[in-house]
Amino acid sequence: MRVLLVGGGGREHALALGLSADPAVEALVAAPGNPGIAAVASLREVTPTDPAAVAALAVEVAADLVVVGPEAPLVAGVADAVRAKGIAVFGPGAEAARLEGSKTFAKDVMTAAGVPTARAYTCVDAAGVARALDEFGAPYVVKDDGLAAGKGVVVTDDRATAERHAADCGRVVIEEYLSGPEVSLFVVTDGEAALPLLPAQDFKRVGDGDTGPNTGGMGAYAPLPWAPPGLVDDVMRDVVHPTLAEMRGRGTPFAGLLYVGLAITPAGPRVIEFNARFGDPETQVVLALLETPLAGLLHAAATGTLGAHPPLRWRDGAAVTVVVAADGYPQGPRTGDVITGADRAGIIQAGTRRDADGTLRSAGGRVLCGTATGPDLAAARDAAYELVRAVELAGAHHRTDIAAAAVDGRVTIPG
Ligand code: AMP
Repeated sequence: MRVLLVGGGGREHALALGLSADPAVEALVAAPGNPGIAAVASLREVTPTDPAAVAALAVEVAADLVVVGPEAPLVAGVADAVRAKGIAVFGPGAEAARLEGSKTFAKDVMTAAGVPTARAYTCVDAAGVARALDEFGAPYVVKDDGLAAGKGVVVTDDRATAERHAADCGRVVIEEYLSGPEVSLFVVTDGEAALPLLPAQDFKRVGDGDTGPNTGGMGAYAPLPWAPPGLVDDVMRDVVHPTLAEMRGRGTPFAGLLYVGLAITPAGPRVIEFNARFGDPETQVVLALLETPLAGLLHAAATGTLGAHPPLRWRDGAAVTVVVAADGYPQGPRTGDVITGADRAGIIQAGTRRDADGTLRSAGGRVLCGTATGPDLAAARDAAYELVRAVELAGAHHRTDIAAAAVDGRVTIPG
């Protein structure tokens, strides 16, 4: 199988490692890729959000499967353009990607499908915003309606901050606050059959103890020792299958990766958000534990044959990833700093670039992450931090508490 992977972040580096390890993959091309991905794939230039350019590249490299990593190309219609060339593509078309591209659309689908989620209003002016904030009370949850790379959400006790964010965004979704630990559940689907991957948890806030602004994600671990028994089965029954049925009913089946972001509330799991692609950095830990060959799995989802796919196999133990972020991230990351200690197994590169002389430099907010597995969560955590400590990058910062509460048995479901 010849595979074209679209994207160039940490998620794509993790996908590239999984795809290149699949014996069925004879060639892996990544576009645009990154210096880490270059170790396992050949790189091509492309504008990932240009459907015609990606489709042309897929034809040129004779791809049997195109895997689209990030959300923006999906929302832009890259999967539709590739499919129109008769090439299998893992990732939903633009219509179905609206599950991520528009929070209002996602709420509408959830309501129609009877999926448990926070009550919400879409607001377009100050009066509507004030009414919604009054009704739900603090803590206030205000979400930009469009794509915001995980940074469009403000959760705050401060009314003025909530109002300012709403005014800055224009069109927002304001919703009820959900309390409880969060779970990311990735589901591979061909639109009808669906296979859940291991549930993971990520850490959205920049600082230890979940302080500071939201980021794209500062670390993750899997599996979840504290997850209630039956969680995955319940979510498949109450959330995933009803949502897939609703999307089929609308004539826009969702095929690809359905990312279900959940809060485990006292009343049970509630959907916080859907995404239309693998999450970053949870992908790094989930794929580190997946034993089933990745390309075969994604190809089955892309070709409507997932129902015939064998059950997934997982490695024993646990995986942890810790993100190393650039100075100033998330507000204003500084780039261009020299990185050393990154050329080791387990370092997954995200925002990096390589000079002609081979020097590796930071090129984004989340620069790289240290990903490790171990016989248990504590061992995986120690190994991930050992990787991170060996990296040198001026001004870099990382959270020191990734997976710590889970290791110590301190994650509890309220109520
Ligand atoms: P989202 O982009 O919708 O995933 O939101 C980013 C983060 O904001 C989530 O991971 C949660 O930590 C938080 N969040 C979003 N919606 C809610 C909610 N209704 N209640 C509590 N926290 C939320």
